Amino acid sequence: MRNKLCRGLALLLALLTLLGGLTSCGAEQGWRAREVAVIDDNYRTWYEIFVYSFCDSDGDRVGDLQGVISKLDYIQDLGFNGIWLMPIMPAGSYHKYDVKDYLDIDPEYGAMADFEQLAAECEKRGIKLIIDLVLNHTSSEHPWFTAACDYLESLGEQEEPSAQECPYYEYYHFVKGDPKSSTWYQVGSSDYYYEGVFWSGMPDVNFESQALRKEFEAVMDFWLEKGAGGFRLDAVKEFYTGAVDKNVEVLSWVNDYVKAAKPGAYLVGEAWEGLLTYAQYYASGIDSFFDFEFAGPTGIVSKTLTYSGEEHSAQAYAKALCRVQNAIREYRADAIDAPFFVNHDMARAAGYMSYDERKVKMAAALNILMSGSAFVYYGEEIGMTGSGKDENKRAPMFWSADPSAKGMTAGPADMEPQENRFPSAEEQGKDKDSIYSFYKDTVLLRNQNPEIARGTVARLEEIEDPDIAAISKTYEGQVIYLLYNLSETEEKQVDLGGYGELELAGYLSVDGGAVTAEDGKVTLPAYSVAVLR
Ligand code: CA
Repeated sequence: MRNKLCRGLALLLALLTLLGGLTSCGAEQGWRAREVAVIDDNYRTWYEIFVYSFCDSDGDRVGDLQGVISKLDYIQDLGFNGIWLMPIMPAGSYHKYDVKDYLDIDPEYGAMADFEQLAAECEKRGIKLIIDLVLNHTSSEHPWFTAACDYLESLGEQEEPSAQECPYYEYYHFVKGDPKSSTWYQVGSSDYYYEGVFWSGMPDVNFESQALRKEFEAVMDFWLEKGAGGFRLDAVKEFYTGAVDKNVEVLSWVNDYVKAAKPGAYLVGEAWEGLLTYAQYYASGIDSFFDFEFAGPTGIVSKTLTYSGEEHSAQAYAKALCRVQNAIREYRADAIDAPFFVNHDMARAAGYMSYDERKVKMAAALNILMSGSAFVYYGEEIGMTGSGKDENKRAPMFWSADPSAKGMTAGPADMEPQENRFPSAEEQGKDKDSIYSFYKDTVLLRNQNPEIARGTVARLEEIEDPDIAAISKTYEGQVIYLLYNLSETEEKQVDLGGYGELELAGYLSVDGGAVTAEDGKVTLPAYSVAVLR
């Protein structure tokens, strides 16, 4: 199926190239006019949404699902074909990672009918919708946990707890006697203690319990039936803290269950670890794990743009692309990398780049043109501000300079005021040189060339300029070439004459200058990317 799509696309591209040569269509608009591929697999470009701070539909200044629905045009116009919603189930905290009921929508966000409407709208647009699924822990207010605690507190001094009497007792990790550890908490005034790796309000569940697994199977069925196209799996390395093999077993169970219930569903796990550890999680069969190697202020994308020295050169970036690909494929041949630059737990990227607009744009290209399923956190496309405490990283989407404009949210209660340095989405949408427009071009380039997401990366080792990352991506017999000029100031020329007859399929350039290709010689302005095929 994909094969056929790609051949169709290749034909279409050939035709458009021909037409482009015949008409007076300017070079500037040229590549943007090309068709995008129809995406029916899991190599997508995902938009991560914190519903609370995204868009408010009913005037209470808390984001909600109707708000998300009202912004689907915005998301689709940017080219995203996947959406990840952070937790939407009833919870105790504003971030909702402490679930009180796995089978409902938090009333702050709306009702189940709103979710069903959102899922249907996404499907109509070819957008896959995944939701956060928090399996590692529940809220301490979840009825399973409160029932288990009530039961333990009711036991007499000599009585042993029994799962026959209270099945929920075995859903969590309880011990009698104080384990004297900072991640264990007392059950009321009893002799019992429970584990909460993150905090006392989030008791860790016990995956040894088959009854608990059955409950979670029903939860997964429920959401897949409501229209979820898969799940983002939270905190998978804490299922059994420190035991990769056991975590892989739990993830295999999730993967087998979900794929049997809905073939084609997409699963992406959060194993916040170094490459050599998170790579091992691919043995579970889960499609993707977040690529922490490239993310955050000290990840490869940030270091490539802000650190000097050979080990942070463009060449080193290209080598890292190969290294990560090879590491994850060792555990699963069809592993789909999940590159991202920033998420809700990390400071926003504009700050790492000292609000240098050119670098903010290049960071987008270095992230979004990676192979796999690329993720973008809401607001990154306009260079929003946010660092320090977690609430600051989850600030209101900056739709408009007018804080009382329709859709604007108030943000988390404990958030410190955030001053955005770049204009609002409304303003940037009208500016073809904005960060927003650069993101849109980058996603478009990715969508037009299926090899960018799906291709196997190799370095062009003959190209030795340390400021140039030169790679090929091969997918189903098609080869494309990507050249990144990561010099901040210098135009560069790269000779690809030895690679056959290549056409410029598109390019990005932070200052708006054109990339040109003639007789195999590609000229790249400072901070630009060229795609050739
Ligand atoms: Ca609202």
